Amino acid sequence: MKKILQVNHVTKTYGSQTAVNDLSLTLYEGDIYGFIGKNGAGKTTLIRMIAGLAKPTDGCILLFGSQDLAAQRSNLGTVIESPALYPNMTAYENMMVQCKLMDLSDANEHIKTVLTMTGLQNTGKKKARNFSLGMKQRLAIAIALLSFPKLLILDEPTNGLDPEGIREIRELILKLNQKYHITVLISSHILGELSKFATRYGIIHEGTLLEEFTEKELLERCRSDQTGTEDLEDYFINVIHHASHQKMH
Ligand code: ADP
Repeated sequence: MKKILQVNHVTKTYGSQTAVNDLSLTLYEGDIYGFIGKNGAGKTTLIRMIAGLAKPTDGCILLFGSQDLAAQRSNLGTVIESPALYPNMTAYENMMVQCKLMDLSDANEHIKTVLTMTGLQNTGKKKARNFSLGMKQRLAIAIALLSFPKLLILDEPTNGLDPEGIREIRELILKLNQKYHITVLISSHILGELSKFATRYGIIHEGTLLEEFTEKELLERCRSDQTGTEDLEDYFINVIHHASHQKMH
């Protein structure tokens, strides 16, 4: 299987605080990788380093087998923190601003394709300020897709969305993965949501990756567990409790 992203023993410290601690993980082509952790676990810090917005204190990151992250940037689309949209512009106009920044020659074609990919093709003259939160988030994802990246990284994309918005984003991610073959890394603390579509998971706690497992392994572990673990949420809480307990002793 082709390795899309390799994080090798990455540490990030801010002063005396360690935000990410000797963390390694690998994303393979076609994965929808659910990166799970409580608030403050270190998810955004890792994602910012992958996106080239912060530098690891130690360790290295390879995108598509290369350590030259800047050169690989066009293969990577990211939505980190709340999307910066122009409220008085339409979806098309918001995307055109980004195309100009990227100096894309066939911007019109690009935008039309991505509007269709993200289901925003019928938004017409509607301005972004009148979009639902789910539509705004889809537009942020659309902007990240303008370079037709092979890897899409979404940091807590369903934060603040209502159930309908959450479903919109889930369906979009599945479509991008299955129809357009985009590999996805998605961070979240909403576990019930992630377990509906992720294919692999990593649990991060206090900057450390505690466990990594596939969808199938999660099902097997839940089935063989004697303590009533039924789903990803139960499993996650057990793993975190165990880690905290070990630390105390
Ligand atoms: P998450 O995304 O999982 O909520 P973060 O990566 O945002 O977690 O934060 C991990 C830890 O690193 C937190 O304790 C946070 O306070 C700290 N941190 C993150 N960014 C900075 C920064 N720029 N300066 C100092 N501390 C930071």
